[in-house]
Amino acid sequence: MARLGTVMDPELPGVSIVDLGMVDDIRLDEHGIHVGLLPTFLGCPALDLIRHHVELALKDAGPLDVQWVHHQTWSSARITQDGRQALLAWGISEPAQGSQDPVTCPFCGSTQTRSISRFGRTLCQQLYYCENCSQPFDRFKTV
Ligand SMILES: [Zn+2]
Repeated sequence: MARLGTVMDPELPGVSIVDLGMVDDIRLDEHGIHVGLLPTFLGCPALDLIRHHVELALKDAGPLDVQWVHHQTWSSARITQDGRQALLAWGISEPAQGSQDPVTCPFCGSTQTRSISRFGRTLCQQLYYCENCSQPFDRFKTV
């Protein structure tokens, strides 16, 4: 798990797949190490790259089997506190924990923000604007 913590989401440098809550399962048996990963967003173009980086991180740990898990759904509630801090440090507002939570500007901390587009730089983000500091910013979508 510590090694998986070094695997960053290619679209969110600085945020590990562990902190994004993408590691569903890791177990060891007589066949080797099995890793189950939850895709944050189906159709995310980074999935193959993430799997490759997981294989590299564990390459000398023995036989390895990395699978994308589809029997349960990833949700933004899986993002850890560290992950939320890392998103903020990258200028991305964290997803809401409750449906009525205000959207906080990652630059000035103001909640006087508004959505300006449902689409952001990547599938998992949407674009907001801060009325206080006049900065546009991305917010991790709540799913
Ligand atoms: Zn602001």
